[in-house]
Amino acid sequence: MDCIAFFLDAEQNVQLKFIKQYLLTCPKITLIFQTLMGKSQTTNIQDKKESATMTINEYQKLAMTTLNPDLNKKEILINSVMGLCGESGEAVDLVKKHLFQGHELDKNKLAKELGDIAWYLAEAATALDIPLESVFQGNIDKLKKRYPEGFEFSKSLNRTEE
Ligand SMILES: [Mg+2]
Repeated sequence: MDCIAFFLDAEQNVQLKFIKQYLLTCPKITLIFQTLMGKSQTTNIQDKKESATMTINEYQKLAMTTLNPDLNKKEILINSVMGLCGESGEAVDLVKKHLFQGHELDKNKLAKELGDIAWYLAEAATALDIPLESVFQGNIDKLKKRYPEGFEFSKSLNRTEE
């Protein structure tokens, strides 16, 4: 049966490792969250994919179920920024090969690299103890202030750094 259940309790770390091994290969994974209060909540990753209604913070929560539980906060932060650089480099490499080495632009591969970048972005936000949505919203707020009528060259050239 294509279903894996795990419990978030005192043994959380061990069970999260178990889930990680199957995340990429199991077509239907059911995560059962058992809180210390005795309440249960079920989240089905396959359903999330099909409905495409996953919120940014839900993504962060799901992505972080695959975070190495042995890392401390400082290590999580360092791992996240190193990962952002590494995955951005992989994205750049695909475009480089397309532009200068005669490769077709592999959009599927590039999209997967963007997903990898998203994962490390979620990890960085987690290291800072902030919801990923607040990172996104903060960026939109900044852009609205900088380009209230949409992009303008003059505002780009003469902008004051916030
Ligand atoms: Mg990658």
